[in-house]
Amino acid sequence: MKRTGDLKLIQELNRSIILETIRKHGPISRSEIAKQNELSPTTVTSAVAELINDGYVSESGTGISRGGRRPILLEFSPNNHYLIGVSISYTKITIADINLEAKINIKKIYPTKGYTGVTLINYLLQLLEDFYKLRQDHRICIGISIIIQGIVDAKKGIVHYNPVLLLEDVYLRDSVEYHFRLPTWLDNDTNAYVLAEKNFGRFQDIENLIYITIGEGVGAGVIANHHLCRGEKGGTGELGHTSIDVSGKVCGCGNRGCLENYVSWPATSNRIMKRILEGCDTQLTDYLTNNKDFITPAEFVEAVNEGDGLAIEVTHEIAEYLSAGIVNVVHLFNPQVIILGGDVTNQNQLLIESLREKLRQKTLKTLYKDLYITTSSLGKEFEMVGAASVLLQDKFQFKLTHDHHRLKTSL
Ligand SMILES: [Zn+2]
Repeated sequence: MKRTGDLKLIQELNRSIILETIRKHGPISRSEIAKQNELSPTTVTSAVAELINDGYVSESGTGISRGGRRPILLEFSPNNHYLIGVSISYTKITIADINLEAKINIKKIYPTKGYTGVTLINYLLQLLEDFYKLRQDHRICIGISIIIQGIVDAKKGIVHYNPVLLLEDVYLRDSVEYHFRLPTWLDNDTNAYVLAEKNFGRFQDIENLIYITIGEGVGAGVIANHHLCRGEKGGTGELGHTSIDVSGKVCGCGNRGCLENYVSWPATSNRIMKRILEGCDTQLTDYLTNNKDFITPAEFVEAVNEGDGLAIEVTHEIAEYLSAGIVNVVHLFNPQVIILGGDVTNQNQLLIESLREKLRQKTLKTLYKDLYITTSSLGKEFEMVGAASVLLQDKFQFKLTHDHHRLKTSL
């Protein structure tokens, strides 16, 4: 039995390696695939036959002959299947029909209407059911992939902790899987974004990569030595609840001075409103009307880029607090790249520059020297690219590590 298991594993791994090669380097010939991966032509031929049969790969013309027949080229077919991506935030649920290159076919956004707990889950199932009916060809749907903030155990499919949406130890993956009879994935949102940067973004070859989201909360997705760090319960990267002030305000988590309470958008927005009420002269007041008593992150960034004094001052404050948290991340994980995500970072070059400068002052020189700090490369559909990445990464074993080859030869 053991031998059969090993053989099946090798076949699956080889199939993943071959699919990955075609996806990244196609159009490509069978012999080139064999050469690049040091696999036998027979292995490649049979795996490719399966991949063509399943619709993941197609033949796409012929290449240049190196003596003999012109080789038939193969390419990845991202549109013969689709997946359903779901992102649950505090204010909205986004559902999309996505191809296998993380391109969106159809997308719908629904407000969460303040629902929490069981009510929210039932609402989600209803929305998904309506969305699912939009297409007839369910046979080619490879699964549902859900991302959400908080502590998520991806392996067991449990949302352990999301205090805003009042979710505690909820078996969300199984509920959805049971309801739709479709394979379902569940992960933390920032883990999804770091996987997306690794699979589809600018940072595919980076070995040590950290994605930090600054939004309604603050979280980090950590890739160390090409592996996503999850921790025992999925709690790796709870950066928002690391303390930057031992005598700071008590946080909902029990700790004092949690980073989240200084740099999340609600925290920043409160500080801005307080200054406005104190009579600070700023163009930010222009965004307030009788019906709108808040400022959005995009409006804030616009004010920064137009040189508004208060907006600039607040940006430096955010950078100061953030650097106090991120310096610990750098000293713990020694990343090569840190990516900042969230609306307040989008187009906000001043924030990045200010953060770089403050980190330079606080970080061990050796660790700061080649550290690159930048904003997300995923574009405005980052949530859905993230959701797609969670499923695609797991199902097709897209290359996170360079260990495939070692594993293959050692077996
Ligand atoms: Zn906390």
